[in-house]
Amino acid sequence: MSRYRGSVCRLCRRENLKLFLKGDRCYSDKCAFDRRSFPPGQHGQRRRGKISDYGIQLREKQKVKRMYGLSEKQFRLFFARADRQKGITGTNLLVLLERRLDNVVYRIGFVDSRNQGRHFVRHNHFLVNGRKVNIPSYQVRVGDVIEVCEKKNADGKPKTVAAIDAALEAVVRRGVPQWLELEKDNKKGIVRSIPVREDLTMPIQEQLIVELYSK
Ligand code: SF4
Repeated sequence: MSRYRGSVCRLCRRENLKLFLKGDRCYSDKCAFDRRSFPPGQHGQRRRGKISDYGIQLREKQKVKRMYGLSEKQFRLFFARADRQKGITGTNLLVLLERRLDNVVYRIGFVDSRNQGRHFVRHNHFLVNGRKVNIPSYQVRVGDVIEVCEKKNADGKPKTVAAIDAALEAVVRRGVPQWLELEKDNKKGIVRSIPVREDLTMPIQEQLIVELYSK
């Protein structure tokens, strides 16, 4: 499946919002959005005319899609699933996205971005309820225990993954949401509850996405 391989900082600048796609760098003074908070490209600084309703809806969808690092096809599938569920489709969509395993390992603090989360999940770095799960879209449930899978060196000693240790040190800066719990010393996280809309603090107007896909 095709994946965006360009500069992720361009995506933040395009969406006019920090999407936190680059881990530590996003909190430093090297953040490209903080330095150049205008759209990328040759005409990025040009004054733009009024954006149509369609344009506003499209930007909102692109923002959320890029935040979670999904392709259009993957995002559409999540939307279709949210639409089939009872309740408010927009909220269902955000909850389904939050429950993805690559997002959860990021939220708990095992990795410093969702991209890294996807990469590490794919490479079998995590156990869910004691079993290896290498599917980034895996939906966590209440009570799931997510642990870092300790691999062993040739001499039998546990192999530490520096990136996970560094991310655990840095997680205090962004905090762990209350629907998750981190046992830092044991490198273990627990899903306390299913997230609710209030747990998602990023500025997202999900009804615009529903309107876009309902056309
Ligand atoms: Fe976005 Fe992070 Fe790049 Fe800043 S450093 S522009 S927040 S990806």
